[in-house]
Amino acid sequence: MTDQLQRPASGVDRTRAAIWRGGDKVALESVTVPPLQAGEVLVQVDLATVCGSDRHTVSGRRAQPCPSILGHETVGRIVAFGDSTTMHSVDGRPLEVGQRVIWSETLPCGACDRCLSGVSAKCRTVRKVGHESFESGWALSGGYAEHVLLPKGMPIALVGDEVSDDVAAPAACATATVMAVVERAMPLAGKRVVVIGAGMLGLTALAAAAASDASAVTAVDPAAERRAMAKRFGATAVVASITEVDQCDVLIELSGKAAALQEGLGKLDVQGVAVFAGSVAPDGDIAVDPEAVVRRHLSFFGVHNYEPRHLIQALTFLEQTTGRFPWSDLVADPVPLDQISDLLIGAPGPKPRYSIAP
Ligand SMILES: [Zn+2]
Ligand SMILES: [Zn+2]
Repeated sequence: MTDQLQRPASGVDRTRAAIWRGGDKVALESVTVPPLQAGEVLVQVDLATVCGSDRHTVSGRRAQPCPSILGHETVGRIVAFGDSTTMHSVDGRPLEVGQRVIWSETLPCGACDRCLSGVSAKCRTVRKVGHESFESGWALSGGYAEHVLLPKGMPIALVGDEVSDDVAAPAACATATVMAVVERAMPLAGKRVVVIGAGMLGLTALAAAAASDASAVTAVDPAAERRAMAKRFGATAVVASITEVDQCDVLIELSGKAAALQEGLGKLDVQGVAVFAGSVAPDGDIAVDPEAVVRRHLSFFGVHNYEPRHLIQALTFLEQTTGRFPWSDLVADPVPLDQISDLLIGAPGPKPRYSIAP
């Protein structure tokens, strides 16, 4: 009886989710939706895109808790709240049942020294969407499911009608991360910007640089089809190798290739800024000539994940540039949830993102 009273208003007590059980084992299972607690939000998934990091997890290149539900680029609709207290989006608007939302990939505690100093991405007890063990107490953290449970304190952003599901979903990882990267290199107006790697993040960074009135936007990628795509996302020049670049003011590294980063640092002109964001797995060391850093007034920054404000910036950026860049072309048409293991295990497709619609 008590149990019944605690159920969310939606009455959802079971959902289907793709559970990753190590290696390439991912299968659809029926999962209990726990009674919602105060501050929690239940979301029904409309669409989830498949970030490359999930493919790395399944192929063994990236370690993460297991079993778990993967997926951290998700858009969905609010189904129920844990209590009647009005909750708000990151930009202060009241949240209501039925609204389309995306949410952060990191769940900060909001109370530790890092959270309080504005670096919640590096919260000392951070929990991550699509990255929590099934036995962690937050089983429904990932987007490869019919429902996701958002714990208390999760930064949530409202998605405007102008932004379609396939454009909104990647905002929660790719676009918001690029907003954090670009913030480190600001201002870009009048600067010669070089972006290494023209995958999902690289293409987004090229578009952000072009939209920020950079004087030159150069894409570096060995793949011809990616270079062709780069031209549609604001690149004013495309090259196969960083060795072909002359000089630049801003270097954005999103390939994760240490050798390319090494070469790129040598291209920075006086007052040059390099933002490292692609190196999320070991790829060897690089050498830094301290005299060059001193004499050329160079600055290097690292960026991993992002702050809640970047979620809003990502959605605003996508909304404002919908007519200028072909965002939907980055995402393959959605397939049903029961095909997720093919998307995680199979070869990469011609587009940077696969997607599922449960
Ligand atoms: Zn991701
Ligand atoms: Zn914290």
